[in-house]
Amino acid sequence: MRFKPKPFREPVSFKCEFCLDCCRGRHVYLTLNDIERIANAGHDPQEFVTFSVEGNKIRFVLAVREWDLGCVFHDPETGKCCVHDANPIICRIYPFMVSRKPLGVEGEKPFHHKGQTLWLYYDESCPGINAEEPETTITPEEIAKLGLKFEREFERTDMAGFAELLDELER
Ligand code: SF4
Ligand code: SF4
Repeated sequence: MRFKPKPFREPVSFKCEFCLDCCRGRHVYLTLNDIERIANAGHDPQEFVTFSVEGNKIRFVLAVREWDLGCVFHDPETGKCCVHDANPIICRIYPFMVSRKPLGVEGEKPFHHKGQTLWLYYDESCPGINAEEPETTITPEEIAKLGLKFEREFERTDMAGFAELLDELER
């Protein structure tokens, strides 16, 4: 699924339709906090963490199953996430996106939050956005907060921290 960005500056109504699109064929980065939270929910990191070399960095990425590139935590029968209460912060942000730079989309404007300048977007291709019978309303402030949290955690995520976390989980 390709993210079709639309500027996000006002609250939008939302209801996930469990269409699976955002849980298949995606590259979901994991932070150490994500890995720890999911492991504490009873899942072995060996079953859900994969590695990606990017420049001189190793990134931790959520594993996908081979037959449809769906996330290993997606239940194909119900369309739901098996780790919903512990899912990665990137999944909590989606169908929104937080960027440090403008993407060049018509109507975009910077969003200022806690002294930071951000550009926020939502994915126009997600059928849950502006749903007719919404379950909730999502505000730019809450997405900006999650985006900054992800940025902080992602900066601290490295192989040494991962090894330390595995040691702690084994104790
Ligand atoms: S967030 Fe959107 S794309 Fe993802 S499953 Fe829900 S409705 Fe589908
Ligand atoms: S962890 Fe859950 S929400 Fe995130 S991609 Fe996997 S199934 Fe989807």
